[in-house]
Amino acid sequence: MQNNNVYDYINITNVINQLHLKKTSQKGNYIYAICPFCQNSEEKKGYLKINTISNVYICRKCESSGSSIDLYANLKYISTKEAFKRLLKETPVLDNMPYTYNNPVKDECYRDIVYRSFLEKQKLNEIHYKKLRSMNFTDEYIKDNLFKSIENNNYNKKEICMQLQKEGLKLDGISGFFQDVDFKWTYKSHKGLFVPVIFNNKIQGLRILLDNEYALDTKNIWFSSSNEHNGTKASNWPMILKDKNRKWIDMYNSNNESIIIATEMILAHKLFNNTNKTVIGIPNNIDKELILNIVKRMNTSKVFLYADKYTILHTSSAMQKNIVQALEKYNIEVDFRIALTEDNIGDDLNKYEKKRKSA
Ligand SMILES: [Zn+2]
Repeated sequence: MQNNNVYDYINITNVINQLHLKKTSQKGNYIYAICPFCQNSEEKKGYLKINTISNVYICRKCESSGSSIDLYANLKYISTKEAFKRLLKETPVLDNMPYTYNNPVKDECYRDIVYRSFLEKQKLNEIHYKKLRSMNFTDEYIKDNLFKSIENNNYNKKEICMQLQKEGLKLDGISGFFQDVDFKWTYKSHKGLFVPVIFNNKIQGLRILLDNEYALDTKNIWFSSSNEHNGTKASNWPMILKDKNRKWIDMYNSNNESIIIATEMILAHKLFNNTNKTVIGIPNNIDKELILNIVKRMNTSKVFLYADKYTILHTSSAMQKNIVQALEKYNIEVDFRIALTEDNIGDDLNKYEKKRKSA
């Protein structure tokens, strides 16, 4: 097999090309072709309507319809399983038409290279800089953590993507990027800040801190491009913030007396910045398995679990209790805290530590 994506093989434009169906016209995402089930090839107007986005066909005359694989199977009188097998054997011949699917995500090393180069090309505007400073982050902290404003100008966005491609980087399989209707690579516009999610020294993905609330209850979303042409869905990647001088390997081998878990990335940064304790960021609700896996590896005996507003509103108290119980089963003491206010987050923890040390 060549270096093609499996979706290229089952792409409906590949299927109609493999079947040598006669195309009569094209309109937006649709191709019209002579219907092989009810028309003869001399006819001028094709009734077979092919949707290149959803990868399906329908005849407006005989009403036969189905997926790209169904089309191939029906015309060759074979099963869809056999059709799929046969399509994989031929080199795909694609029309220059958009189609949509979620690409498999590229590995963390590749994502890290692309995101670092991408962030270099983004600026940090005055408003966002001031916002970060008001959250008590120093210039050094802002620089080290690669916080950047999101470029929203359509021309500039495509220019940035073009530069990445000129550097030899491929954008399929990188969450956030997709191809526009002109086939140029771009990304969605959002008013806000990129918060890189770093784990094992690599940028796993980009979290976005929006200027305004999204869907009325959160300001945080993933930089994702699911269901866009050639797009890629973001996963719920975790983040670990640790002392710069501490090696990653030591995170797992030595004893971590207590750690903080925060249910949102910017909250995790605030806590780390204010307490200098190891902080794990887990966005979008509480993922029990994820928390358990990381905490068990870290050999910790106490967890301060900080939940943000979104988690409080969207995670049932039973679920929260469930996580606390699961951790306690491994002899980990859990201190559940709710972080609803923006200010002085972590101060309560500093006071607690001071009190404990003087006791
Ligand atoms: Zn027909």
